[in-house]
Amino acid sequence: MNEQTHYAVVTNDVIAAKTPWLILDTTKENADIIEALKTGLASGEVVVADNFHDLAKQMQVPADVLSETMTSYNQGAHEGHDTMGKDPEYTVPVERVPYYAIKIYPVIMGTFGGVKTTKQFEVLTDGGQVIKNLFATGETANKVIYNHVYMSGSSVQFALTSGRIAGEVAAKQL
Ligand SMILES: Cc1cc2nc3c(=O)[nH]c(=O)nc-3n(C[C@H](O)[C@H](O)[C@H](O)COP(=O)(O)OP(=O)(O)OC[C@H]3O[C@@H](n4cnc5c(N)ncnc54)[C@H](O)[C@@H]3O)c2cc1C
Repeated sequence: MNEQTHYAVVTNDVIAAKTPWLILDTTKENADIIEALKTGLASGEVVVADNFHDLAKQMQVPADVLSETMTSYNQGAHEGHDTMGKDPEYTVPVERVPYYAIKIYPVIMGTFGGVKTTKQFEVLTDGGQVIKNLFATGETANKVIYNHVYMSGSSVQFALTSGRIAGEVAAKQL
């Protein structure tokens, strides 16, 4: 996949792939992460091999497909284009053995959901009535500002702003 796209978009691709892997080669730049990854080898969620065929076997993915994908990716990287659509400026060949593959999992860093509120962040019932003295802000409040894609930085600003508004409203109602 093209990991240059926005992380909220890449996450959708990661979820769709179900069991995606990240592949690294042994460069100077990757030395620290590879040192850390070695501790995961026993788990089977990090695998290492000297060629893509053997790497694929350990990943339990079709060896021919992985070898072809990596060969065409590396060729593109040398020629200045990326088969996945990434800007060639950020495309580097993956060819220094041994190769490492790491199973990756998406994690939740926030929600688009939460309970419905008024603009003062007073919590509403299913029927749209205000529940007295109950406020929801930040992660607990419904964020009507989103559609399907998260905007970077918007959660913290929403938590701060909604919390301040709710606090002021609550103080006035005391
Ligand atoms: C890895 C990661 C990266 C993120 N990066 C960004 C980013 O770059 N930009 C951005 O805008 N947002 C980012 N977010 C999201 C953002 O951090 C959250 O949306 C925001 O902090 C939510 O604030 P909050 O006050 O609503 O909730 P929280 O910060 O979760 O605060 C809730 C507090 O309530 C406490 N609590 C829970 N239960 C109880 C209880 N029963 N009694 C008393 N206290 C309780 C918790 O301990 C916690 O301190 C990131 C989140 C994660 C996890």
